[in-house]
Order: sequence, then structure tokens, then C-alpha cells
Amino acid sequence: MEKQEFSLGEYLAGGIERIVKRAVRATLTDPRESAFMARFALSSREAARKRAEAESSGENIPPFLIASITSSCNLHCAGCYARHNNACTDCAPVDQLTSDDWRSIFTQASGLGISFILLAGGEPLIRKDVIEAAGDYPNIIFPIFTNGTLLDGEYIDLFDKKRNLLPVFSIEGNREKTDERRGSGKMLCWIMFHLAFKRVNLLR
Ligand code: SF4
Repeated sequence: MEKQEFSLGEYLAGGIERIVKRAVRATLTDPRESAFMARFALSSREAARKRAEAESSGENIPPFLIASITSSCNLHCAGCYARHNNACTDCAPVDQLTSDDWRSIFTQASGLGISFILLAGGEPLIRKDVIEAAGDYPNIIFPIFTNGTLLDGEYIDLFDKKRNLLPVFSIEGNREKTDERRGSGKMLCWIMFHLAFKRVNLLR
């Protein structure tokens, strides 16, 4: 029997297609979200077409990127590899890429057919300027990996308006485990924002 070759690109692209299909189904009860996802599904298909075209001329475009938009963080979690390797600091962002630099990267990524960019840190919510810039690219979904402690009313409004920004909270399980790793009161902070998100119907 002929052995089939594994293609990482196809595997990742297939994963993204499945996520988009499920997301479209999951948002059917919310007209705003459903309209956004329907538009995104179209641009995601166009992005896949661009990647396939590049592939046919020998150029490999990944279906998603991970963008570390800051090395600053406001927590000292136990076991953090970034802290351990001194890749993460308490200082305010200095000598980091500006929001215009990131806009240029997002524009290039969009042109190449990339429709998912994970925003990570440090703590990415420290860079509101970059998150706001990302909100202007509705053809790209930006999952934002955050510890959730810097969420405020402005962020909730922003996430409500820009449906392509998806905060993904890091918690360790129950309150005790989360506070043990991230610091006292961190789980409570997350619960409060969970309730605030529910109020503006950003969470079901
Ligand atoms: S929030 Fe993330 S980057 Fe910051 S210390 Fe904790 S694990 Fe490390």
C-alpha cells in the first residue's frame, strides 16, 4: 500500500476550516455575530485560495501566525517559562514594535492569505494600541491569550464592537489552583469580567 505523505500546511489549514465551520454554526442565534462570521468565512476561503496559489508556485504560506506583541507582563506566575528565561519583564513597553509596525505586519499577513493571528506576550492587553490596530482587520481573527487582569470597560466595548478580537483567558482550573499559580485574587478578577461579558452578551 502506498504511504500517504503528511502535509503540516494541509493539516493546519484543515483545522482552521473546521474551526470556522463550527464557529459559524455556534453563532447562528446571535444575528451580529452570525453576520460577522458569515463575512469572515468568505474572507477565510479567499485566504485559503491565496495560500494554495502560493503553494503551487513553491511558496509555503502558514495559515496562522503567533505574534508576541510585548515582553512586558504585570504578573509573576509560578512556572512561567518567559519569566524564567528573562524574556518577560515588569517594565513598561520600550523599544518594542509600534502599532504602525504591527499594522504593516497585519496588512502583509492579510495580503499573503493569513486569516488567524494569535496575540501573545508577556501580557498582550498591556498593548491596547496594538489590540486596537488588530480590530481594524475584520478578515483576520485575533485570539488574544491574556491573564485577564487588565480587562476594563474600554476593552469590553472594544471586544463588543470588533468581533474579530477574541480574548482567551488563562486559568488553571478552580479558584484555589488559579490563585496559587497566578497570585491571590486573580480568579476573582476573571469571574467579575466573565459576568461583565455575559451582560453585554459576549459570552454564552
Ligand atoms: S501572565 Fe503569562 S507571561 Fe505573565 S507571568 Fe504569567 S504566565 Fe508569564
